Amino acid sequence: MRPFTYTSATTKEQALQAFHPNAHYLGGGTNLVDLMKEDVERPDQLININNLSYSKITAGANGGLTLGAMARNAETANHRDVRTNYPLLSMAMLSAATAQIRNMASNGGNLLQRTRCPYFFETSMPCNKREPGSGCGAKNGMNAVHAIFGYSDKCVAVHPSDMCVALAAIGATVEVQQPGGSSRLIDFNDFHRLPGDQPEKDTTLQPGELITAIHLAPPSFADHYYYLKIRERSSYAFALVSVAAGLQINNGTITKAGLAMGCVAHKPWKLIKAEAYLAGKQPTQANFDAAADLEMNDAKPLQENKYKVEMGRNAIVRALTQAFDRKA
Ligand SMILES: Cc1cc2nc3c(=O)[nH]c(=O)nc-3n(C[C@H](O)[C@H](O)[C@H](O)COP(=O)(O)OP(=O)(O)OC[C@H]3O[C@@H](n4cnc5c(N)ncnc54)[C@H](O)[C@@H]3O)c2cc1C
Ligand code: SF4
Repeated sequence: MRPFTYTSATTKEQALQAFHPNAHYLGGGTNLVDLMKEDVERPDQLININNLSYSKITAGANGGLTLGAMARNAETANHRDVRTNYPLLSMAMLSAATAQIRNMASNGGNLLQRTRCPYFFETSMPCNKREPGSGCGAKNGMNAVHAIFGYSDKCVAVHPSDMCVALAAIGATVEVQQPGGSSRLIDFNDFHRLPGDQPEKDTTLQPGELITAIHLAPPSFADHYYYLKIRERSSYAFALVSVAAGLQINNGTITKAGLAMGCVAHKPWKLIKAEAYLAGKQPTQANFDAAADLEMNDAKPLQENKYKVEMGRNAIVRALTQAFDRKA
C-alpha cells in the first residue's frame, strides 16, 4: 500500500475543505481500503467522514424516509421503518456481503462501490476504468459476469451493488453537499452513469461532492415485493443477475410496478418498459412473461455471458411471481 495522510473531519465544512483531487472520503472502508491494498486506488489522503452527523434514519418529505449517508447497511436494513415500509430495500441489503461487512459499510459508500470486473482489480492488465486509454481486457476476454445492456466499446463492466437495485426500483433521490457550500439533489436513476467514452466515471458526482443522505420516495411496495439474487454461492457472493420487483395491486389490478435489475449494466438497470407495460394489467403469468420479454429483447450479450439473457428473463418472471404471491 502506498503512503497516505489521514484527516478526521467532524463537520461537513472540514471534510469539504480538506478535499483535493487526489483525496478520498473514507466511509466504512470496506471497498476503498481493499482497492488501496491492491494498488488500484492511490489516494494521497483519506478524509474520515464517519464522525459527521449523517448517520440517522428519519422521516422524510411526503411520507418518505431519509437514510443518512453514514448510517450502516446493517442498521438501515434492520431499521423498523425500512423493514415495515421498504421491505424490498431491506431484503436486497440483507442479501449483500456478510453480516460483518454490512456492519461496517455505509449507505453512501455502498452507492460508490466500484465494479468487481477482475481486470479492474489486476493492475498488470489493461482496463480503461482503472487507467483511461489502456484498453478493455474484458471486452474480448473473460466476460462471463459482465454487462448485457448499455455497455460501450470502452467498458463492459457492471455495477455490483444490491442496495442500489432496490433503490432504483422504489425510487430515491441522493442529496450531496458541494465544495462551495451549497447542496443539490440527484434523482437516483441519474446518479450512476453508463460507461460511454469515460468509463473511469461511475457516477454523475462532481469532484469533492459529499453524499449526505438518500431520500426514499413514499412507500408503494410494502405488500408485494421480492428481491431475487442469483449467485454462485448462497452467501458472501455478488449477483450474476438480480431483480428487485415491487407491485402495488388494487382490486386485482397492478396500479404501479417498480422493477430494476442488477449486474447486467454499468448502473442499476431500471426496467422502464416492463414497469409501463404492467401498470393497469392483471398480475398474471402471461403478463409477467410479456413484461420480461419486453426488456430482455434489448439484451446484447457478450461472448461468454449469453446465459444472462435467459437467466435474466426467468429472474424477472420469478421475482414478479414471488412479489405477487407475497403478503408482507
Ligand atoms: C468480501 C465483500 C463482499 C461483498 N459483497 C457484496 C454484495 O454481495 N453486494 C453488495 O451490494 N455489496 C457487496 N460488497 C460491497 C460492500 O457493500 C461495499 O464495500 C460497501 O457498501 C462500501 O461502503 P463503505 O462505507 O465501506 O465504503 P468505502 O469503502 O469507505 O468507500 C467507497 C467509496 O465511496 C466514497 N465515499 C464513501 N462515503 C462517501 C460519501 N458519503 N460521500 C462521498 N463519497 C463517499 C469513498 O471515497 C470511496 O471512493 C462486498 C464487499 C466485500 C469486501
Ligand atoms: S470492463 Fe471496464 S472495468 Fe473491466 S476491463 Fe473493461 S474497462 Fe476495465
